[in-house]
Amino acid sequence: MDIIHLLPDSVANQIAAGEVVQRPSSVVKELMENSVDAGATSIDVLIMDAGRTSIRVIDDGKGMSETDARLAFERHATSKIRKAEDLFSLHTMGFRGEALPSIAAVAQVQLKTRIAANDLGTDLTIEGSRVVMQEPCSCPVGTDIEVRNLFYNVPARRKFLKSNQTELGNIMQDFERIALVNPTVSFSLTHNDTLIVRLPAANLRQRIVGVFEKKLNEQLLAVDVDTTLARITGFVGRPESARKKGAHQFFFTNGRYMRHPYFHKAVMDAFTHLIPEGEQVPYFIYFDVAPENIDVNIHPTKTEIKFENDSAIWQILQAAIRDTLGRFNAVPTIDFDVQGRPDIPTFEANPTQPVRAPQLEYNPDYNPFRKHSTPRPTDDWAQLYDVARLQASATPDTSMQSEAPDLFDTEGDMEMSSDHFQFRGQYILTAVRSGLMIVEQHRAHLRILYEQYLKQMQSRSATTQGLLFPEMIHLAPSDAQLLDEITDALSSLGFDITSLGGGSFSIQGIPSGLDGVDASTLLTQMIADAREEQPAQSALSDLNHRLALALARNTSIAVGQALSAQEMDTLLADLFQCENPNMTPNGKPTLAILSPRDIDQYF
Ligand code: ADP
Ligand code: MG
Repeated sequence: MDIIHLLPDSVANQIAAGEVVQRPSSVVKELMENSVDAGATSIDVLIMDAGRTSIRVIDDGKGMSETDARLAFERHATSKIRKAEDLFSLHTMGFRGEALPSIAAVAQVQLKTRIAANDLGTDLTIEGSRVVMQEPCSCPVGTDIEVRNLFYNVPARRKFLKSNQTELGNIMQDFERIALVNPTVSFSLTHNDTLIVRLPAANLRQRIVGVFEKKLNEQLLAVDVDTTLARITGFVGRPESARKKGAHQFFFTNGRYMRHPYFHKAVMDAFTHLIPEGEQVPYFIYFDVAPENIDVNIHPTKTEIKFENDSAIWQILQAAIRDTLGRFNAVPTIDFDVQGRPDIPTFEANPTQPVRAPQLEYNPDYNPFRKHSTPRPTDDWAQLYDVARLQASATPDTSMQSEAPDLFDTEGDMEMSSDHFQFRGQYILTAVRSGLMIVEQHRAHLRILYEQYLKQMQSRSATTQGLLFPEMIHLAPSDAQLLDEITDALSSLGFDITSLGGGSFSIQGIPSGLDGVDASTLLTQMIADAREEQPAQSALSDLNHRLALALARNTSIAVGQALSAQEMDTLLADLFQCENPNMTPNGKPTLAILSPRDIDQYF
């Protein structure tokens, strides 16, 4: 006896729905994408009870004719592709023709739609895949579709919905992703009759700031590179915007949100040594690639996309971000390790249009050593030494005083070779009497600047460099109050700041010698540093110490910066004029010495 039979459509649709419609947010995503595909300039999303009761999407797109409105709910009915080859030149979000029939299989759907050519639209009601009503109606051009009582006929699914908060969170996440790729479309999201967000048509930067927060605006640096393989645009956060968690990170490909752990690594690698390890920066990166170069057979619920040339794109992406960081002088470094930059591969495929390597730009005049090039007279630092000793005895157990044995305590050790060698853009190697000395350049510079700034504060000898154009900053009330409290200490460092009231301040001058440093970013960072709680017994709880350290931190040379022989010489000379050359102000070693015996052991 034959036992095989075809499933009725309603059952087949319900099975498909199990994949396409997993939760209310899937419905929101599919409906919004249809509106985008229909060329809408305005899309309103209205949700009741986190999507359980109702999900309604209203657009002003091209709408559907009476017949199309009915056909749209048939399986594999789509206006977006006609033949298999079309799959390779896809420019729409949808193409499978699965969403509407799947949704209609597990919910009650009401659709009102009109095309511009008709005076009357059509009003259609479907329940569990069956059309229960269709009649003409008067409505604006576009589509108004409402999905009610999702999973009303699939109790098991309905039971597995998460809390309203979770489901609404998912909806907002999908809403955000679509809003972020369609900045010229205006969107609104309303939940239980309360408007949650309204996003007017805008440019990409405004859209990102509109979706998230205003203060992102100052953090975003534009990325833009065009090669034959891909065009990559968007924004990355400045290194200062790095956070332990919660950074907004997005990739999009051809208008579609994408997760891509491999490309994520390319972005984070570009920030190596610029941000603390383990921290994250925001990024919004948009890839435009020829549709034939990615796997289009994207499952509606999957967010991974396969690229044909992903390792080449990895390199282009990383080079583009490094270029951005260099161009905006986001890092006060001279050298970007040009040698280590990946070569952009050239492809035979299109020899007339070679892949263009992003250009590296930097400020060749910036020299962080300029202000230290003359060694200070010895009696000067001897005096500093006394001052520091006095303080040290006044504040017992300070983290500035290292427990470690003094590595550099004998006069004789100062006899060092005049030949220095820079290793990995991070360490300066030089021969001293007691062995091979290795100095960490960033930490050493931190120590030098810290002592210098501290001394200037104490003697009120800092000089100010006036800004050509005073910069305005606006602070939250708590930050504004803090800045009021520390204005005096900041002016002893060389800042010239005036409070304008209402949380607004004007920066007229910054400490001399900080060429290429962005005044408002620096100040914002210093305020954040000043707020950070320090252990009470630490000498660093003293405001002067904290501010000197904060300024040093923000102006010292980075790891990765190439140093000339002269610069290394100056750095070492300055370091050994410090009161405590062996440690950073927060107690990390600045140098180590390998004794001849250590070295002999290797041979
Ligand atoms: P797909 O988007 O994959 O084509 P859907 O089931 O989502 O499949 O939609 C089926 C068809 O219905 C679409 O191809 C489109 O022609 C039409 N359609 C759906 N939503 C809209 C809308 N908001 N405005 C105009 N046409 C729409
Ligand atoms: Mg669709």
